[in-house]
Amino acid sequence: MNARSDAIRKIGKSGKISSHSNPQNRAHQFGQNVFHRGLIEKLPKKAAKNWLDVLDGVGKLDLDNADVIAESLKNWAIEHGATHFTHWFQPLTNASAEKHDAFLSWSTHGMVLEKFKGKELLRGEPDASSFPSGGLRATHEARGYTAWDPTSFPFLWEGGDGCTLCIPALFFSWKGSALDHKIPLLRSEEKLNHVVLKLLDLCGQKAKRVYSTLGAEQEYFAIDRSLFLLRPDLLLSGRTVYGAKPAKGQELEDHYFGAVKNRVMAYMQEFEDAAIKLGIAVKTRHNEVAPAQHEVAPLFERASLAADHNILLMELMRNCASKHNLACLLHEKPFKGLNGSGKHNNWSISTDTGQNLLDPEENSLVFLILLTAILRAVHQHSALLRASIASAGNDHRLGGAEAPPTILSVYLGDALNHIVEGIVHGKTGELKLRAVDLGLSSWPRHEVDASDRNRTSFFAFTGNKFEFRAVGSTAHCALPISTINAIVADSLQILLDEIASEVKDQQLSGEALFAKALPVLKKALKGAEPVLFSGDNYSEQWEQEAEARGLPNIRRSFHSFDQFIDKKAIRVFEGILSEEELHSRFEVMVEQYAKSINIEANLMVELFQTQILPTAQKDFSERGIAKQYSSLIDEAVEKTEEIKKMQSQLSDMGWEAKAKVFCELISPKMEELRTLVDQLELIVDDALWPLPKYRELLFVI
Ligand code: ADP
Ligand code: MG
Repeated sequence: MNARSDAIRKIGKSGKISSHSNPQNRAHQFGQNVFHRGLIEKLPKKAAKNWLDVLDGVGKLDLDNADVIAESLKNWAIEHGATHFTHWFQPLTNASAEKHDAFLSWSTHGMVLEKFKGKELLRGEPDASSFPSGGLRATHEARGYTAWDPTSFPFLWEGGDGCTLCIPALFFSWKGSALDHKIPLLRSEEKLNHVVLKLLDLCGQKAKRVYSTLGAEQEYFAIDRSLFLLRPDLLLSGRTVYGAKPAKGQELEDHYFGAVKNRVMAYMQEFEDAAIKLGIAVKTRHNEVAPAQHEVAPLFERASLAADHNILLMELMRNCASKHNLACLLHEKPFKGLNGSGKHNNWSISTDTGQNLLDPEENSLVFLILLTAILRAVHQHSALLRASIASAGNDHRLGGAEAPPTILSVYLGDALNHIVEGIVHGKTGELKLRAVDLGLSSWPRHEVDASDRNRTSFFAFTGNKFEFRAVGSTAHCALPISTINAIVADSLQILLDEIASEVKDQQLSGEALFAKALPVLKKALKGAEPVLFSGDNYSEQWEQEAEARGLPNIRRSFHSFDQFIDKKAIRVFEGILSEEELHSRFEVMVEQYAKSINIEANLMVELFQTQILPTAQKDFSERGIAKQYSSLIDEAVEKTEEIKKMQSQLSDMGWEAKAKVFCELISPKMEELRTLVDQLELIVDDALWPLPKYRELLFVI
């Protein structure tokens, strides 16, 4: 019996569902492990006010308060069982990083005290030479600094038998360059805030602060852990590099929104409990299209918090899976031929008073100008947006008739299309409708809601927010959101400048203001119109039509990375990422792309040589069919040798050159090798095949 059949036999026998969930009132449990607003309010007055002002975006941190805050944090953490603290930060790896220190200091007489000083709260200094920096920090200047990020809440992380106080932190080099995802995201919020406040001011509206909001729908696969462990490719790269199509895949469409299996439900319940305690308002859960695929979505919140929470949630999901003898796969495409996983980033803009500025019902002139700025931005910077979701993993998913293609288009729905067309083409009939709307609070809401969802669109308006559907499931939300914030802030500023030159110094409002803004909006909407598309984005005709419209279609991520160092990007990222920082991101992305494909190539070669080839040869010779299938084996051996040779020729190249070879030459070879091995899988004696098959990975649970 091989390890594979042994594992399946055990799974079949076990039948027991472990449940560690202790569901109580979730509203009561919410944020139990977070040093939340309520606790901040109880700090000494001066410190409390200062921290709350920072949280609300209307104040700067006063360093003098650090000692008092640190002391309270320590007491709270120790009361809850914490022994250690860490700065919790987000280097350019799509995961969080931490380095724990105990709350210990020497007292006199050789004893120790539990201490946490303001200095330790404010700054950490991880020896950070091993984090990706894209050349911003040479190894001999290995210092990286972490600094407390008071815009996010400290929390307790329970893992193993330990409990750690995590201080959300920023990560930067000794020259002050951003080395993390969080700094640009916060800067992009600042920039957007600044411009949108000007828009509100123009339209006679008041707000203290404006935020981008984010609700991240997270897709994932949950499969049995013992089978997962028998797949070195899943273990090391997150996706299966081989695997023949199973007799049944997702064609019966019986999984989407189907009843969740008990074992998976117990798992969902447990990671949700932990998420709730960490202040992550997980709301929606359901089965997705592919077998073993699911989704979890929290309620939206301020984007920088939502981005932190998404990283935490992914960590919880991975961690908790092993307790249930499951493995959580967050890769964009774990299984060929089945739907991949995305992380739809629902994005909007909200005021401090909770007014959603992309809700057409709530405010119309502001909405109309914002909408125009967004369409203009997406049209002008579509290649940059494409780059913001680029990765080796997402390449397997985009354009696979399951996720948006690599052409960026916007879906608005009938109601808004109507309005845009009305403005662009000056149709009086529409204008009348619009004039009613311009009262501007009375757009019938049902009209917007009635517009259908377009699930094939890259960037779709869904009633009161945009859904950026092309983001990959492992991605950090910060890059796509910072990019949207950056391009929208830029376009809005341009529109506001143009409107200002029409308005001159007059104090206008209502219809008079609208009349002045109209030509500006008309020009911008006309320019952006090619990016609007309501049809089926998965169709071939769209590809042709998009080309005729002049929309970029960057099929492979590698060819989009240089958008980040393009002159246009350097301008729109001003104040968010400097030219030097953009270059470093470009380098990190290119390097990660090459490394990911290299790992997969290594896996393909190793698995073929050490597991598949010996099994196939043995089986075919024992069954006397070696001759019949020798060409299949010979071809696979040949492809393996070609891949090895190409890899060996890369050693002297820089990362960009390597990434190009992986993208253009090695990936196609890997695909060819895979096709051969997948054919072998369907011939070799099932009892001997070493790797768990798709039907087992997807259906045995
Ligand atoms: P779908 O039908 O697209 O699958 P879901 O209910 O799974 O919708 O997810 C929608 C997500 O959009 C949720 O996370 C929700 O909180 C979020 N969302 C709703 N309104 C906003 C908003 N104004 N800004 C950002 N995200 C929002
Ligand atoms: Mg959803």
